[in-house]
Amino acid sequence: MKSRVYFISVKPSDNLQAINEKLKRLLDESKSLDFIRKEDNVAVKLHFGEEGNTGFVNPAHLRVICEVISQKGGRPFLADANTLYRGRRLNSTDHLKLAGEHGFTKDACGAEVIIPDDTKKENVVSVRIDAKFIKNAKLARIFIDTQALIAVSHFKGHILTGFGGALKNIGMGCATREGKLAQHCDLAPVVHSEQCIGCGECEKICPAGAICIVNNKSVVDSSKCIGCASCMAVCPTMAMFIDFGAGDKVQEKMVEYSLAVLKDKKNKAAFINFAVKINKECDCWGMENPRIAPDVGILASSDPVSIDKASFDLVNRTCGKDIFKSVHPDQDGLKQLTYAQQIGLGNLDYELIEL
Ligand code: SF4
Ligand code: SF4
Repeated sequence: MKSRVYFISVKPSDNLQAINEKLKRLLDESKSLDFIRKEDNVAVKLHFGEEGNTGFVNPAHLRVICEVISQKGGRPFLADANTLYRGRRLNSTDHLKLAGEHGFTKDACGAEVIIPDDTKKENVVSVRIDAKFIKNAKLARIFIDTQALIAVSHFKGHILTGFGGALKNIGMGCATREGKLAQHCDLAPVVHSEQCIGCGECEKICPAGAICIVNNKSVVDSSKCIGCASCMAVCPTMAMFIDFGAGDKVQEKMVEYSLAVLKDKKNKAAFINFAVKINKECDCWGMENPRIAPDVGILASSDPVSIDKASFDLVNRTCGKDIFKSVHPDQDGLKQLTYAQQIGLGNLDYELIEL
């Protein structure tokens, strides 16, 4: 049976209030959040955006979502896990501060913001799934212990996975730093020596001690590398190159992590994708990056595979081509969706209900 995906379009002339009214209509008419029961703790999984990036979902929309959750008797809170990369989201203190600077506060959104410290054992849980790559997924406990999960995702391009939506938000996003490393660990970088200026930034950031500067050039010991891509992120000259052909495996691991997150959330999870501000790269980039498509709209579904496929189709239909393949020709983002269907996370076939 096809899964239902509800969709409401967003026009260039829509201001914030108009978009919020559409969002409210989408949530009311789709009944997407009706599964929430009185006193359920409801984790609203978000990406708060790296410093310098504004692609993240507008906090004003979170207020609408949290109000609907509260009307159902649920107790919403906004949450994310820390990142692998050097930046403002590497530890809970800085991450929380940055979320506040981006407008995600209790006053603005009507819900607490929680970013667990995954260096503390009590905040981490291992979920057994025995999948092809991942046997035990390392996740932030807050997403597992809660009674309901709402993934609010910005749909956009991604250097590693072609595009990122609901599956990326929960699979990569709910993982602890250890879990994120497990998903990235097939990606050892190569140094383009002619571009390397020997600044040593990569050596300083490398968490595995895999880099040394020899004769003013960076040298990577691939036997020590854990594929975190931090060196690539800090390199000022783009001398570090990671073969994202290994990205297919990363996509499959990410999907297996999504399976772990949703293992005990049958009929207890919903997905809301914002296909607006569709950038080439994800919101982890500490800078603005080019828009690749016009705003399309907002989608809601109980199926993470269907909602991502519908988002992908709607964006590409608007662009008249596979825009994600155009900007990331080495990636096939659909691999994440076909694998997700294969392991039972949802359906590629969907019924689009336009409101
Ligand atoms: S060499 Fe490997 S472990 Fe070190 S920063 Fe680069 S990707 Fe990460
Ligand atoms: S950060 Fe880049 S430029 Fe600096 S030493 Fe490393 S590879 Fe070379």
